[in-house]
Amino acid sequence: MIPGERVSLVSPTGWDAVFGQERAISFLRGVLERGEVPHAMLFTGPRGVGKHTTALLFSAALLCPSGAPDGCPSCFKVARGMHPDLHLVEPEGAQIHIDQVRELERELSVKPLEASRKVAVIDEAESMNETAANAFLKTLEEPPPGSCIILVAAGAEGLLPTIASRCHELRFSPLGKREVEGYLRREFAMPPQEAERLARLSGGIFGRALLWARMPELAGFWSRGVEVAATESKSSLLALLERAGGILRDASGAETPAGEEGMEAYRKALDKRVVEKLEKRWQEARKRESARLRRQALFDFLDGMASFYRDIMLLSVAGAWDEKPGGLPLVNLERREDLEREALGKGSREAARILRALGRAKKALEANVDQELVMNWLMLEIKGARS
Ligand SMILES: [Zn+2]
Repeated sequence: MIPGERVSLVSPTGWDAVFGQERAISFLRGVLERGEVPHAMLFTGPRGVGKHTTALLFSAALLCPSGAPDGCPSCFKVARGMHPDLHLVEPEGAQIHIDQVRELERELSVKPLEASRKVAVIDEAESMNETAANAFLKTLEEPPPGSCIILVAAGAEGLLPTIASRCHELRFSPLGKREVEGYLRREFAMPPQEAERLARLSGGIFGRALLWARMPELAGFWSRGVEVAATESKSSLLALLERAGGILRDASGAETPAGEEGMEAYRKALDKRVVEKLEKRWQEARKRESARLRRQALFDFLDGMASFYRDIMLLSVAGAWDEKPGGLPLVNLERREDLEREALGKGSREAARILRALGRAKKALEANVDQELVMNWLMLEIKGARS
């Protein structure tokens, strides 16, 4: 599972923070209106379609005095991951461990502090290891009264069947490139060409396009990946890692003012111990967010490279450039010259080899192998392929 493509810092002001999931949203609104909130829900669907954002919006609605995400202080706290009645779980390293499940159980069993119920969101729920999953099953079998647990996963098949069957599954639909394009033009007033390009490069993954539109520095990593692949630049991949660090420091700095304001109001309103606990929680959330963005930058870079080599393979099989609509589904249309040189010259064998290496590097990163180690290995692999 790639943890990126997820915009945690959602604006908690309304359901329209999620795009293209009308069916799921109207189901959730119906549940809220009827007051028939299931004890456990499972949000499934492809990468970057808004599962996590919807889970936060639904949590905001469940905890908000108004019963809807409306941008009030309670909703604000949910968006920042620091609402005392919201418990967020996500993999530590590559897995969700049993002590995290125990902590969740403890949190759910105490009385809510501000809202009328407790809510938990478990991200990448399929990454629960076996002992954690078995412990979690017990929580599901006897859910604390009034609580709601939302599991987020790519699909129900990654979970224990006994867990999946106890949750109400809500499927999220994939979005097409055209829908993403339309959204970028509307919401970001993006020129048509730019919107088309961004939608194409993001592979129609909405969350990724959105992240790139909001943080163009991140899209830069993808382009750098293509650049390295296309020009056979020997520039160190590690230098890019360092740049990722800088960008992400800036990104988290930009978030500070709004967050601080919220904390200020909060300090006044609550007793010291609670504030301390929540501040710690918020700092942790920010640290995770920035680690996530850093990882995302790295994945974007590798995916950028991979897109170029995949284009080479496609083009070398097809034998000629095809510009007709519905012709070759190439991604890097701006790189025709480089692609033709590579594909029609050397052919696809080297590209296939590098693609395999990129795939292995991504797997290693997903399994939390040290980033520097992986990038060094990858650099040697690529050099080997080129010599
Ligand atoms: Zn609210």
